Amino acid sequence: MKLETLAIHAGYTPEQEGHSCAVPVYRTSAYQFNSTEHAANLFALKELGNIYSRISNPTQDVLEQRMAQLEGGKAALALSSGTSAIFYTIINICEHGDEVVAAHNLYGGTYAQFNSILPQLGITVRFVDPTDPENFAKAINDKTRAIYCETLGNPALNMTDLDAVAAIAQKAQLPFIVDSTFTPPSMLRPIEYGADIVIHSLTKWLGGHGTGLGGIVIDAGNFDWTNPKFSLYNVPDDSYHGLRYAHDLGELNPVAFALRMRLVPLRNLGACITPDNSWMFLQGIETLALRVERHSENGLAVARHLQAHPDVDWVNYPGLEGSPGHEAAAKYLQNGFGGMVSFGIRGGREAGQKFIENLQIFSHVANVGDAKSLAIHPATTTHSQLSPEQLESSGISDELIRLSIGIEHIDDIVADLDQAIKNAH
Ligand SMILES: *Cc1c(COP(=O)(O)O)cnc(C)c1O
Repeated sequence: MKLETLAIHAGYTPEQEGHSCAVPVYRTSAYQFNSTEHAANLFALKELGNIYSRISNPTQDVLEQRMAQLEGGKAALALSSGTSAIFYTIINICEHGDEVVAAHNLYGGTYAQFNSILPQLGITVRFVDPTDPENFAKAINDKTRAIYCETLGNPALNMTDLDAVAAIAQKAQLPFIVDSTFTPPSMLRPIEYGADIVIHSLTKWLGGHGTGLGGIVIDAGNFDWTNPKFSLYNVPDDSYHGLRYAHDLGELNPVAFALRMRLVPLRNLGACITPDNSWMFLQGIETLALRVERHSENGLAVARHLQAHPDVDWVNYPGLEGSPGHEAAAKYLQNGFGGMVSFGIRGGREAGQKFIENLQIFSHVANVGDAKSLAIHPATTTHSQLSPEQLESSGISDELIRLSIGIEHIDDIVADLDQAIKNAH
């Protein structure tokens, strides 16, 4: 089935759910065991099934199966936020003393997690400029356990050359982790380009309406975890009956990564998604392809309009010829170039702040991927923890304004931008 059909049907069988046409919300904390033997089997992983909603829930399960199919992966795990999805991914691979090589143009929260929290756990992240994929290769050493990047950088919107980075990761026998939040599966499926693990903040385009937090990790099921350098998968786990995740899961060995994330980080640290949010994200996913089409159409129209505007110094949109990364974006992205546009207003920081205050239809929020159009000034908000050098290397100048273009009528979006620019000077 094609993506538009999977987005509506995958992972759900109405006949097993009292013929409920829509996916039910399972508001329960725990699940009744059939017998003491059944209970013992579930705890011993001799049988898979629901025990407690911190670990799994039937509504969440539909979301996970649907997202795995949309991304072309074999299993998925939904979590309470994109941020926890990223953290659990790293600690599901790395131990004290291990290293990660990551692109330096990361989402602000991810950068802070990698730069200050992971070092507290003894995990070092080496940041590299992803514009030259060879930089990843140069930073790999004996301690490296993963390669990490985003698809479209935020807010510079430069497209990572996934093919090239995947080849480097494969050669070094390292899992390639891609945060694809800015490119939902109707635009790009990183597994097709060699990603082993795909992460989304469901909060953005997948949910699509700015109404809740969630994250998901998709396991391509291709990576070989039997390499002894991944000790979490090869040394018997005392907290789990001496299980070796890369060896002892039988037919589930290919999805050892996803299963271990559920059994260890999720079970013991607890950032579970709620059944209600799982249900809400399923609603969003049903209309994903349609919405992304309109986000992209409006995004391109806004980029072209701003490009021709006398009070705009520069415009960056991956769909604009001449924008940095346009060629790579054209290679990797389908069904348009998305709704993210950044631009520099004439008059710098001061004009930028006035512009944002003048907007009427656009909401001034630290979010992206809403049906509503959104605007923010990253240097003073989302990326304000970065030093001047880090700001520069992330491509964030003082006058940069980031727009997340919604699905309102384009005429109203353009009129709002025009009046806000006019009144900013
Ligand atoms: C929003 C976002 C995150 C964090 O997700 P939350 O759901 O807000 O925790 C991570 N990566 C990218 C690219 C994002 O846009």
